[in-house]
Amino acid sequence: MKILISVDIEGVAGVFHPEQTRAGNPEYERARRLMTAEANAVIEGALAGGATEILVNDSHGGFRNLLPDLLHPAANAILGKPRLLGMMSGVDHGVAGVMLVGYHGRSQSRGILAHTINSFAFARVWLNDQELGEAGIYGALAGEFGVPVIFGSGDDVFVEENQPLFPQATLVTIKTADGANSGTSLSPQSALAVLGDGAKAAIGKIPTCSPFVLPPTITCKLQTTSPALADLFCQLPIIERIDGVNLTFSAPSVQYAVRVLNSLSAMSFMLR
Ligand SMILES: [Zn+2]
Repeated sequence: MKILISVDIEGVAGVFHPEQTRAGNPEYERARRLMTAEANAVIEGALAGGATEILVNDSHGGFRNLLPDLLHPAANAILGKPRLLGMMSGVDHGVAGVMLVGYHGRSQSRGILAHTINSFAFARVWLNDQELGEAGIYGALAGEFGVPVIFGSGDDVFVEENQPLFPQATLVTIKTADGANSGTSLSPQSALAVLGDGAKAAIGKIPTCSPFVLPPTITCKLQTTSPALADLFCQLPIIERIDGVNLTFSAPSVQYAVRVLNSLSAMSFMLR
């Protein structure tokens, strides 16, 4: 049984500040070790639960944060960008379930380091009138491949936001948010035990989990963080402008919508 583990960094124990999520400083170097350790705990748990093959997808920023030399030897790592399926690369390799590790709440929520895909570019994203964060958007992409989200970890806001989307998944709370950059975290060591136990239990519950499926055609609505970004995004002919900062486009699949969003995210670097 093959399992895909997608690992972000904002929901990892002990991570509260943007500096810990950006390359080029010592805080980040520590945080990526914590991220790798959490991935390893989930890999251990999944193997103990009965998984026989593990793909681990580095899903933060430039997609090269996990330290390959410290990664569990049983896992194959998917690293680097761009890639067509982004945070869900590997979901098309015959996996039985997806695990989301170190995830976070959507943009405009009160969660720790909450954002959706690109905090500079997107204020809010809706698919078929449902406002979603990264877990929801990429969970729907997995759903399109018939694969359920079976496990997730992050702060309390992430859990509260996503349990309704993935009702049978085991979602574990690693931190409690007081605000965007503050809250209470399990110690990294305790977090590893919680992650391992949760992952093991989640494998046993796979038969009860159903994929999160959004029926096409997909209508994607998005709100930019500034009118200048909306001006830029409207250069792409499929984008229609609703008002200063609200845009919409229709997509034949979730994958199509995700690829457009990631293209817009890449375009936004022009205005940084
Ligand atoms: Zn991230």
